[in-house]
Formats: sequence, C-alpha cells, structure tokens
Amino acid sequence: MPMQAVRPKILGFISEQASAWLVALVVLLAGCALTVIVAWVTADLYQQQIRQRFQLLVNERYTRLQERFDDQEQRLVSLQRFFVNSSEVSRAEFDGFAQPLLLRTHAYAWAPRIYRDQRSGFEQEISRQRGRPFAIRELNASGKLAPASERDEYVPVLYSQTQSLLVSPLGFDLLAQPLRRSVLERAQKSGKPAVSQPMQLVGVEPAYAAGVLLVAPVSKSNDLQPYGFVMAVISMRQLVADGLPKADRDNLVMQIVDTSDTQQRVLYTSSNAPGSTDLTAARRLTLGDHVYALTLRASQVFDRPNHSSKSTILGMGGLLSVLLSALLYVLVSQRQRALKLVEQRTAQLRGREQELRGAHGQLRSVLNAATQVAIIATDLRGVINTFNAGAERMLGYTPEQVLGRMTLESLHLASELDARAASLSVTLGKRIPPSQAMLVEVPDKLHEAREWTLLRENGSPFTVNMLGTVLLDDYGLWIGHLAIYVDVTEQKRAYEALAARDRLLKKLSSHVPGGIFQFTLEPQDNWRFIYASDGMRDIYEIEPGLLQQDASKVFERIHPQDAERVRASIRLSSLQLSHWREEYRVLLPQRGLRWIRGEATPEELPSGGTLWHGYVSDISDLKRVEEELRALSITDSLTGIHNRRYFHDRLKAETLRLNRASGALSLIMLDIDHFKRINDQHGHGAGDGVLQEVCRRIALRLRRTDVFCRLGGEEFGVLCPTTDGEQAYGVALELWQSLRGEPMHSVGVVTASFGVASWRVDEGVDGLLLRADSAVYAAKQAGRDRVEAERLWV
Ligand code: GH3
Ligand code: MG
Ligand code: MG
Repeated sequence: MPMQAVRPKILGFISEQASAWLVALVVLLAGCALTVIVAWVTADLYQQQIRQRFQLLVNERYTRLQERFDDQEQRLVSLQRFFVNSSEVSRAEFDGFAQPLLLRTHAYAWAPRIYRDQRSGFEQEISRQRGRPFAIRELNASGKLAPASERDEYVPVLYSQTQSLLVSPLGFDLLAQPLRRSVLERAQKSGKPAVSQPMQLVGVEPAYAAGVLLVAPVSKSNDLQPYGFVMAVISMRQLVADGLPKADRDNLVMQIVDTSDTQQRVLYTSSNAPGSTDLTAARRLTLGDHVYALTLRASQVFDRPNHSSKSTILGMGGLLSVLLSALLYVLVSQRQRALKLVEQRTAQLRGREQELRGAHGQLRSVLNAATQVAIIATDLRGVINTFNAGAERMLGYTPEQVLGRMTLESLHLASELDARAASLSVTLGKRIPPSQAMLVEVPDKLHEAREWTLLRENGSPFTVNMLGTVLLDDYGLWIGHLAIYVDVTEQKRAYEALAARDRLLKKLSSHVPGGIFQFTLEPQDNWRFIYASDGMRDIYEIEPGLLQQDASKVFERIHPQDAERVRASIRLSSLQLSHWREEYRVLLPQRGLRWIRGEATPEELPSGGTLWHGYVSDISDLKRVEEELRALSITDSLTGIHNRRYFHDRLKAETLRLNRASGALSLIMLDIDHFKRINDQHGHGAGDGVLQEVCRRIALRLRRTDVFCRLGGEEFGVLCPTTDGEQAYGVALELWQSLRGEPMHSVGVVTASFGVASWRVDEGVDGLLLRADSAVYAAKQAGRDRVEAERLWV
C-alpha cells in the first residue's frame, strides 16, 4: 500500500506538500479578514446597543421629568382646592398647607384679586394684620419694587411660602407685568392651571432664576370670576435637575425649550458637554397649558463606558491571526520535517529489513552448512525451535520430528543429566532441575561440564562437547537458549590414544637410563628443549619443566672445559645435519663431577632451524672402567711402571713436539746383566722380585718429567725430555750406581748395562732407539755393568 494513501492531511485539510510559509500567509490573511468582519459586525451591534441604552436612558429621564411636571400641576391643583374649599385662608393656614408641598417648587404664593376701590382698604388691612406697612408694588424702570400705579385691578402676592432665603416679593402685583398678566388671564379664562412664558423669577437666586409661573385661578364656583390665584413659582433648574445625577455623572445632556416661545429661549440646559456620539432624542413635556420640547443628547459620561471594542477586536484578532499563522507555520514545517524523517527512517528500516533478511538467509545457510556441528535453539520452555542440518546428521532426527515437539532435555542421557543436576545443586547451593543442568555453567569445571552424552534417534549414545548460551532479543530480554554440539567421539578416542601413547612414552623414558629429549636450534641461535623426559632431571639435576623454559641452564652445568666443545659440536651437527655424539663432564650440585654422553639425530625444520631427537646418559662408570683399562694397557703388571706401548707412544709424541719446536730429548736404556742366571739360580719368583727392586731403585732416582718404562723382559728405557746427552749420561751413571751400589735381598748385587742416546734434529724414532740400543749392546760387549754413551758414528 502506498504511504501517501494512508497519510492524513495536516489538521484535516492542509496538504503536506504545501509550503509552510504559504499556509502561514493564507491563515494570516484569512485571520485578518475574519477579524475585520467580526470587528465590523461587533461595531454594528455595539452601535445598536448604544442606541438602545441611550433610548432607555432617554425614556427613563423623560418619564421622570414628565412625572415631575405632572406632580407640580397636581400640587398646585391641591392648593387651589384648598382655597376653593376654605371660606377664608389665613396666612398661617396657607403656610401650613403650602409648606409640605414645597418639593422642587421654588415657592407657592397666593395672590387675591383686588380691584381699584379695594386697594387702599386692602393695603391698610394687611398692614394692620402684619404690623408692617404693606403696599401693592410693581417693578419700576430701575428694576426695584415700588408702589404699583393705578389700575382697575391688582393681583398682589399676599402669601408666599418659599424655600429661598431671599425675601418674598410680597405685594408684588402680578398684573403689572405683561407676561404674568397674560398667564393670569389664560388661567382665568380656562379655569385651569396655566403656565407663563419663560421668565426671570423675582426673589430667586440668579442661578435658579430662569423659570415659569404655574397659575391656577381660585373661584367660589366654576362659573364665577376668580377672586384670586394660587401659583407655583417653578425654577426650571430646580424642577429638572434636582435629584438627577450631577452634571459630571449624567449620561444625558438636556435642553428644555418652551414650544410656544417665539424666541425659542432655552429654559434649561445641562451644564455638561455632549459626547462624541450624535445620539439625540426629542420628547414633549406638558405643564399646564404649555408644551416643552425636551431635547436629550448623549453626554461625554455616556461615551465613557461605551468605548468601542473595534480597535481591541482588531488588535486581538490581528494578534491571534499572527499567532495562529506562526503556530501553523511551526506545525506544518515540523510535521513536514517529521514526515521527512519518517520517510528517511522508513527507508533505513527497509534497508535494514533487507539486510536482516539477507543475514537471516545467510544465517540459515551457515546453520545448514555447518554439517559437522549440531546447532539447536530452544524457547524459554526448552522446546526446540531451530534444528540445523548438522543436528539432523548427528542425531538422526528430522526437523519435523523435533521442532516444537521435543526439548533439549530429551536429547540428553537422562541418568547423566540427573547426576550432573544433583552435583550442580550441591555446588551452587540451590536446586538445579535436570532440564537445566546442561545450561548451567560452572566456571571451575568448564571442560568436564561441556562434555555430554546424547542419544541418537535409534537410541545409541555418543559423546559431544556442548557450548550453551542464552539467547537475547534486541531489547536484551531472555528469549531462549542456543546449544552447539560437536561430536567428540572420534576426538575423544584419538585423545585417549594419544594419552596412552604419552603414558607409554613416559613409562619408557622412565625406564630408559638417562634422559630423552627434543632440542631445537633456531636460526637466531635460540636453543630450546621441546621435550625433556624425567630422566633429564637426574642427568643435569634440573627440573625438565625448567629446562624447557631455558635451555641455557644445561650449559651452566657443563664443565667449563667442555662447554665450548659441546656447543661447537652441536653447531657442527646442525650445519652438516650429522649425527651428534659427545661425551662431556658436568658439575652437579649434588653428585659432583659426572661424565655424560649425548647422542642425537638432527633434522631440518621448515623454519630453517634444526631439531634433534636424542638422549643423554651418565657414563661416569663406563669412563672409570675405560680409564682403568687404559691405565692397564700402558702399565706393566709386574713392576707397575709404564709398558713398552706407552714408551713408544710417548717417544713418538715427544719427537713430534721436537719437530715443531726446538729442544732436547735423551733416551737411557738398560738391560740387567745375566738375568737368566738369577732366574736359574734363585727361581723365577726371585727373578720377578729383582725386576721389581730394580724398578723401585731407578724410579727413586728419576725426575718427575722422566718417563720410565719396561720395554720387555729385563730391559728398561727412560725417556728424558728437555735433557741433552751429557745430562742423560749423568742420570744414567746415577742409576747405574743405584743398582750396583747395594746388593739385593737374597740374590746379591745386581748390575745392568746402560746405553744413552740423544735426539737429533730431523731424526726419526727408530734412529734414536737404534742408537740407544747400540749403546747398550756396546756396554754388554764391553763387559757389562757400565754406562755407554752413544757412538757418534752411528
Ligand atoms: P746378558 O747378560 O747377556 O743379558 O745375559 P742374560 O741372561 O741376562 O740374557 P738373556 O737374554 O739370554 O736371558 C734373559 C732371560 O730373562 C731369559 C728369561 O728366562 C728371563 N726372563 C725374561 N722375562 C722374565 C721374567 O719376567 N721373569 C723372570 N724370572 N725371568 C725372565
Ligand atoms: Mg736381555
Ligand atoms: Mg740380560
């Protein structure tokens, strides 16, 4: 399945291919557009709300004002009724009635209707009542109250109840002023309350002076002329503004204009300024017979809580759009990066999978190629799940018989497993089941522990070497075991044969006198014992192991006079590949000087060195016998002096030496005189005794360097090295004297004839002997018992 088919779009609608910048830009633009629309809709709604709120405020204000207007009228009507229903109203009664009515009304007043003829009487009567002069007054040209001019009738203010601290304009004739007159007339005419045109009220604080008079006629019955008027002096400011929010808190700006006022003077206007909105409302207020135009506008206070949220929305919307686009940019770019990464990883994983498949195939091939080795893997329960070709061949099972069916334990010899499990349990101090015995490693006994007996499919046992290991998965979790078996039956047999051979060799070598060895001389003059039997220990008094480490130990034992010879002979044998045979002495720590004979056959090593197979033996006894034999062979048994053979050997050696270097050599020969007779007269034994005595006496007189030998029968020779003829002659004379000077036991004096000869340059042995012999002969001839020097002519 292709990857793209299952890959969801970013946030469900953004294609993965889209550029992150583009997405962010589109979102930013969309966000801004949406923000503008929302701001616009909100602004519209806001305007509506503002208008609604304004209308509510207007309606509430209007209702309140109209109520106040109506209320003013009602109260005046109640005062009117009070007068209508009373025959006479005293000042005190008026005050008592009017006082409670003073609510947002500047003043209530009662003005009776006085006709011209009643004026003076009236003035006097009132002056009397008040105790103060009272006159009907009017405003003069300078704006001051002055006695009223003559008229037909007057309507002077008689009673007045006011909230003002200013003095009430008592006596002020309302008819003196056209405005006031007009309202009285209208009231009188309609019989109902009438309102004056806007006017400046008299006796009122200037700030409250703008106002109106609300006048109601008082008559005894409806059809009669009124006999006076009650009036409410209404300060428009007091009526409208009192009890309403202060200017700095009022949401509305009010303006009241009397519609009947031709000059359209503003009767009341709020002191606060109008706001920025153009919200305006107009209502009509009625008071008495007048209609007032109430104009209401939104004030600055109204503006304040009604800030347009447009800029906020635009700001917030813009910010949100930017944030959203940034978020999307990050999201999209990260997602794209992540997807790219996923693709890379997927490709890597595919590659790995391929490799793994290849490796698995290779592994399988390797497993099956290893036909000499059984490779068996199990799961954690011990059930076999891998059984290679080697295992099939070794055990005779087919994979179908084994895989998923048999355990490793079933391949092993049960009794061996039980025994091994029992011993392992003891060693490790915990119970090891037989099924685990082959998998538990005991480091100390690694070698033995690896050998196991397996059973083939046909039940026949065979020995294997097993290597067990734990199988772990990629996360290091234990998933089973791997066992590798190598059939070691043949190997074991060979090993045992080898061991037997080894034992034989050991036995043989221990019974053979001397030591057997293998010795190499490598090209770098490296001497080494490859093998050294136990016998070598007796020969050199060195442990064989030590010898194998260091062959030079042997040369430390060899006699210093022989060591170099031995080395040289070994080298020669190596060079010529000739049989090595050497006899030499060793100096042993315990047994002292011993003679050794070594023999070895060399062979050339492929590396260029030489390998000898040989033996060494102690020949000290042999040497001794040999020495004895040699001594015997050169010794005369009767006399104990050297024999003729030795004499000739020495003579030959001496002449050879003299041929190489100059020097002297003399020879003294002697023959016992008439020895036959001694034998004859005294017996052969006595003759032997004479021979021995002669030898003793001569030997006594000889120097250490002289060589004394029995040449045969009763004939002797003395070899005198470094001795010339004269010296030798002297020696011979001494010897002659030693014999003849003293008789011998039982036989009397024994004499001998002496001949002396000296060696001559370039002369052979025979010449010297001949001349000495001739001298003896000459001595015999001359009568015996004498010393004869050699004849010069010979
Ligand atoms: P001359 O003075 O001429 O030398 O006379 P001679 O008797 O000494 O010489 P001759 O050569 O005739 O005799 C040598 C004798 O020495 C003969 C032999 O029996 C005797 N003789 C040789 N060897 C021995 C020996 O070992 N012991 C004894 N007892 N006699 C020996
Ligand atoms: Mg003789
Ligand atoms: Mg003789």
